[in-house]
Amino acid sequence: MSRCDVAVVGGGAAGLSLAHRLTETGAATVTVIEPPDGPLRPAERTWCYWHAGADGLDGAVSASWSVLRVHGADGLPVTVEPAPFTYRMVRSADFERLVHDRLARADGGHVLRATADAVRAVPGGAEVHCTLPDGSTVHVRARRVFDSRPLPALPPARTQLLQHFRGWFVRTATGRFAPGVADLMDFRVPQPAHGLAFGYVLPLAPDRALVEYTEFSRRPLTTQAYESALGHYCRDVLRLGPLTVERTEQGAIPMTDARFPHRAGPSVFRIGTAGGATRPATGYTFAAVQRQARAIAAAL
Ligand SMILES: Cc1cc2nc3c(=O)[nH]c(=O)nc-3n(C[C@H](O)[C@H](O)[C@H](O)COP(=O)(O)OP(=O)(O)OC[C@H]3O[C@@H](n4cnc5c(N)ncnc54)[C@H](O)[C@@H]3O)c2cc1C
Repeated sequence: MSRCDVAVVGGGAAGLSLAHRLTETGAATVTVIEPPDGPLRPAERTWCYWHAGADGLDGAVSASWSVLRVHGADGLPVTVEPAPFTYRMVRSADFERLVHDRLARADGGHVLRATADAVRAVPGGAEVHCTLPDGSTVHVRARRVFDSRPLPALPPARTQLLQHFRGWFVRTATGRFAPGVADLMDFRVPQPAHGLAFGYVLPLAPDRALVEYTEFSRRPLTTQAYESALGHYCRDVLRLGPLTVERTEQGAIPMTDARFPHRAGPSVFRIGTAGGATRPATGYTFAAVQRQARAIAAAL
């Protein structure tokens, strides 16, 4: 049995953000329970969010943009400078490194590579029952547990759409991108029969960018359909010329008016997407989990 003030189940965006804030305030000893590599651990991904002021995440930011653009279906661009905000990109691997380093240096900070099987209420807190990679079991007892594991199913709702997308990290043969200008929505892509579609371009260098094809609709596409849409967007809309796809990322984010209960027990709280942090209109979550983490750290 190990003991701590706070057990964080899941070391994704929400779990790492909360651990980061707790090590900053020193308000509590914290154990982050994250499964070893395998089916429960999501693939590496990038999180973008609007930022102003200091948030302590600079060490994990790989790019930022101070000019944002939207292209209408008629091809006309609308450009805004959202100062004092910038749009920033954090890679999940960089964020994990930053927070794990902080946990290693913090008094009472700990990362447990284990799968959480159950969370049970006990007098004065809750206990997380975990399986270690060697198959043995361990219990983590905490005064409070914050659980970010994905829900087995979304709660009932009137609206259940998905923001679903695939992205290519491309390298072009010549400089084709303007670093500093992010294309958030480009409606010059063909529109689906139901829902809407847009391109998204985040330049990382004159010859490198993350280019995504996104739909807001009921069902994800096949990988082949995303690939075909991305090929068309890069070739016929952006006219990027010869390019290499260095990495891909893909996801489906719920856009729903479902109510996500925050409390799962007297001392157990859900955080992140499972705790309703995803903005239904856009699928954005990262900024909300920063607010959620700050509020929890301040309250402890
Ligand atoms: C590819 C992709 C790109 C995205 N980009 C953006 C973006 O740019 N901006 C934005 O705001 N949002 C973005 N989102 C949406 C949202 O920010 C992410 O889904 C985010 O990861 C949600 O954070 P979370 O902590 O709720 O879930 P996750 O980050 O998925 O974390 C859940 C964690 O729980 C762990 N876990 C699962 N089962 C167990 C178990 N049994 N025991 C212990 N741990 C367990 C998993 O390993 C995982 O680390 C993106 C989503 C995807 C999929």
